[in-house]
Amino acid sequence: MIRINDNYLKLRATYLFSEISKRVSAFQKANPDRDIIKLGIGDVTRALPKVCIDALHLAADEMSKDSSFKGYGPEQGYSFLREAVAANDFLSRGADISPDEIFISDGAKCDTANIQELFAQDIRIAIPDPVYPVYLDTNVMAGRTGDFAQGRYKNIVYLESTSENGFVPELPKEKIDLIYLCFPNNPTGAVITADLLKDWVDFARENNALILFDAAYEAFIRDETLPRSIYEIKGARDIAIEFRSFSKTAGFTGTRCAYTVVPRSCMAWDSNGNAHSIHDLWNRRQATKFNGVSYPVQKAAAAIYTPEGKQQVSSLIDYYLKNAGLIRRELLSLGYKCTGGVNSPYIWVNTHKDSWEFFDLLLNKAGVVCTPGAGFGTCGNGYVRISAFNTYEHVQEAMSRISQALKV
Ligand SMILES: *Cc1c(COP(=O)(O)O)cnc(C)c1O
Repeated sequence: MIRINDNYLKLRATYLFSEISKRVSAFQKANPDRDIIKLGIGDVTRALPKVCIDALHLAADEMSKDSSFKGYGPEQGYSFLREAVAANDFLSRGADISPDEIFISDGAKCDTANIQELFAQDIRIAIPDPVYPVYLDTNVMAGRTGDFAQGRYKNIVYLESTSENGFVPELPKEKIDLIYLCFPNNPTGAVITADLLKDWVDFARENNALILFDAAYEAFIRDETLPRSIYEIKGARDIAIEFRSFSKTAGFTGTRCAYTVVPRSCMAWDSNGNAHSIHDLWNRRQATKFNGVSYPVQKAAAAIYTPEGKQQVSSLIDYYLKNAGLIRRELLSLGYKCTGGVNSPYIWVNTHKDSWEFFDLLLNKAGVVCTPGAGFGTCGNGYVRISAFNTYEHVQEAMSRISQALKV
């Protein structure tokens, strides 16, 4: 008899986006002439930068001739891209990362999901609340969690991000082996300072723990005093893996390219207490289960590191940051407390109401879709996430409608 992985039964149904679309279509049906502005999902809306399109065309031409055709590439990525990443994203900021420590992939979602398979079953794991659901669900699937009760899984240490701690969780009181962190944060839009990040690095070093640092929104950081990479913090090379993506940086959500940094100095221990290089394990895993990102897509990704590419990506991000700034200013002037919206495309709003009640209010009174914070974890109760991924005109219209709706 073919049997299932029972751990899948512990997963909770992903009500969030299906419930949102259910409520939106019910509203649209009841109000066919109202037009709806979506500031809900975390997907970009603007076209790829021109340098990327040009690179895709050129690479397609190369694929059209036997003499320049490319078949399987290296599982870890082409060196032209790994070198550009190391030089531009790390060395230029004083972070000592070499090209062979960069693993190119087709997404930070799959990398943050897959990395856990390198580690033992009975490790202690700390995961933020609220959170990007991938970190938690993949550990549930792997059988590292207990049952779900009162909004939480047993055997997980939840790192609470609240207004009291400025949405940067405090260090755990207990020993932890694996820590997930995400800054600039999805969903809260919060950022972490170098001093606070150093506390986490020191904690991991003291505990022989590993930090999985998701920096998918790094490109939105405009405050030069903030770290863009965990490797800007002294000692991080030995205890941290960093995930980056071209998705939010350069509009690659549908094109698919990302990378993971696994420094050679990161170690993990076997059951006999012998140390092993995590880099070697990840390399083995990728070589076995992954066959690389397509050549044209890697060429398109590398194009963002040219001078024109940097300029085009920067104006793409500026566009969304301008939206974010408008959303944040309007909400603050209406008297709402919010985080994010600077150095981040997300604004996390304290609604002083149930998240879904506030969601319905914005939908019914303003025709604007946001994301109820409760969908991201217990600590998201009472909050909504508003995303800056839309046109400036739509954001202007949405904010004027929201002002009208919430003033009365
Ligand atoms: C969007 C996002 C990613 C990137 O995912 P891709 O698979 O690279 O598109 C990773 N982490 C977080 C928190 C995200 O919001």
